[in-house]
Amino acid sequence: MKPEQVSTMQYFGEKGKAFGELGDKLFESAFFIHGHVCGGMPLGYRAGLAALKGLGCDRELNMAKLVFVETGTGHAAGCFADGVQMATGCTFGKGLIQRTEYGKWAFSLVDKATKKAVRVSVRPEVMEASFKSPFVQMRHKGVKPTDVPLDISKALVENLLTKSDEDLFTVSEVFDYPLAEAPKPCFDLVNCSVCGEVIAENKARVKEGKPVCLPCSGYKG
Ligand SMILES: [Zn+2]
Ligand SMILES: [Zn+2]
Repeated sequence: MKPEQVSTMQYFGEKGKAFGELGDKLFESAFFIHGHVCGGMPLGYRAGLAALKGLGCDRELNMAKLVFVETGTGHAAGCFADGVQMATGCTFGKGLIQRTEYGKWAFSLVDKATKKAVRVSVRPEVMEASFKSPFVQMRHKGVKPTDVPLDISKALVENLLTKSDEDLFTVSEVFDYPLAEAPKPCFDLVNCSVCGEVIAENKARVKEGKPVCLPCSGYKG
């Protein structure tokens, strides 16, 4: 990582102090985990904070909330979803974020216990301005995010940080989310009878009476 990228991420970390307790650490970490300075990730981060505020809850430390993020694969500014993960704590590894593939910069944050949710969407004019920005224009020409001059990417983030939540987002009222009951998590292991690797028991398949992992089973799913 280039030193100027590191110092820019640290600079925005300092700005993250405005986002409350540990805001600086989280915002800086979000940049380091994401890997480059862009507009999409910080926009998602701000949107995540707006959702927590709208739902009246704190960042998810355990497994009690879910995010359905509406971005998709293969379009610009998908980086938004990384910011949503970091701010809400609803991360991929915890199984708390799913992508709906609508190609929209919006998401719903759901409390699993109460089944209450809020939906946050980026205002159309914000996305339109962002897509006209020099950063996105360069990306469109095939310049890698880390190769966009830092004065361009930094200005994009600085501009976002001057905006209020109301400038950036539409935050819904709290609504009831039709969430299906999730099965209890599995804490049992079995060994695949073909490759010998361990499998979470609820993901094992049975072939000729023996447990096998999905790749060894030859089954499609
Ligand atoms: Zn990005
Ligand atoms: Zn196997």
